[in-house]
Amino acid sequence: MLSVRDAEAIILNLVQPLDPQRDIEIIDLLAADHRILSTPVTSQLDFPHWDNSAMDGYAVRYEDVQHSSDAQPTSLEIIEEIPAGYQPQSTLQPGQAARIFTGAVMPTGADTVVMQEKTRREENRVFILAAPQEQEFVRHKGAFYQGGKQLLPRGVKLHPPEIAVLAAAQCAKLSVYRRPRVAIFSSGDELVTADQILQPGQIVDSNQYALAALVREAGAEPLLLGIVKDHPDALREAIAYAITHADIVLSSGGVSVGDYDYIDQILESLEAKIHIQSVAISPGKPLTVATFPTPHSPLPTPHSPIYFGLPGNPVSAMVTFWRFVQPAMGKLSGLAGGWEPEFLKVRSHHELKSNGKRETYVWGSLHLIDGVYEFHKAGGSRSSGNLINLAQTNALAVLPVGTTLISPQAEVQVLRVALG
Ligand code: AMP
Ligand code: MG
Repeated sequence: MLSVRDAEAIILNLVQPLDPQRDIEIIDLLAADHRILSTPVTSQLDFPHWDNSAMDGYAVRYEDVQHSSDAQPTSLEIIEEIPAGYQPQSTLQPGQAARIFTGAVMPTGADTVVMQEKTRREENRVFILAAPQEQEFVRHKGAFYQGGKQLLPRGVKLHPPEIAVLAAAQCAKLSVYRRPRVAIFSSGDELVTADQILQPGQIVDSNQYALAALVREAGAEPLLLGIVKDHPDALREAIAYAITHADIVLSSGGVSVGDYDYIDQILESLEAKIHIQSVAISPGKPLTVATFPTPHSPLPTPHSPIYFGLPGNPVSAMVTFWRFVQPAMGKLSGLAGGWEPEFLKVRSHHELKSNGKRETYVWGSLHLIDGVYEFHKAGGSRSSGNLINLAQTNALAVLPVGTTLISPQAEVQVLRVALG
């Protein structure tokens, strides 16, 4: 059976990122949060755009004020007042100063700003009470960024700080990668939707709802194909549709070794290449990963979608999504990097156990205790059939193959799976 690491490597190797020329859309900066830049951004503007004052005070010529002190203040004539947003009208001559405010443009002739706390005002004269540093409190044109250089590279995910930068650079419209499209369906004769009346033996297809939310959280667009009966014809039709309409296909259920688990044989009949059939992970062992030979997708860049046949158990489906599908989606989405899962070393509050045979993921939550993260495993049964205690999960503790026990207060690696 494949190790988790090997499975991850195979999957990431199968993923072809979206095309930065074709798989793009132009969007408004106001709608850019969480989108990924598909083109590097360059601005022609310098930052700051012009020499400006970092203080409320007086723009002066350093030469005039370099010997100022409390005992021997320099007296200067105020020739102009320059608030932020105005173009100075005059040029400073020896013996002159301009009243200036934070962010206002430096007048020609001035090279230094004296903060107002180090001055005394008498009508149209100002007394400089201390010698400033030469060029003090002047923000020079281009000191933060010079026009023409790259401002942001391709593949960056846009968050409020990048959006502020892009706004300042007047990038009101942006080219970003389109959202990956992820087709989702569930297979199982026992499944109904959340709004149907349950008959004996039926359960709700919770995976469809969970996977749709996970896909959206990962920045992609879910294409919900509903519940498909455990019947080869129905499954074949669903899979054939899904692989021509999505970048990634997620099915859940039907990949185990039961009599009604048809997915793998249908994939084979569709000429899929099956790369993975099971992984040494708990929960989640039955995991199918496949690709298809012919790109027949109507999407802008026709490429072969990756098929993930996730286990039907709700916990297994989510764990395998977090561990394998999410990184694949990150790479596919055009992100320049950082899609690999991030493991943190934290303290375990509880004793954690595994049979040591498969890499084991224990669901639970991280808590900040005196500034140190502590992992608390979820209460109740750790059965992959128990989805109830999955609520509030924001981390999975990982017990590697061969580790059967982690004692309370001992260090454990965790995979963060949700923020907050
Ligand atoms: P399977 O992988 O099809 O053998 O399913 C394993 C277990 O997960 C069975 O108990 C199913 O009833 C349950 N299951 C399968 N699909 C879903 C689903 N979409 N939502 C919730 N539970 C499911
Ligand atoms: Mg089933």
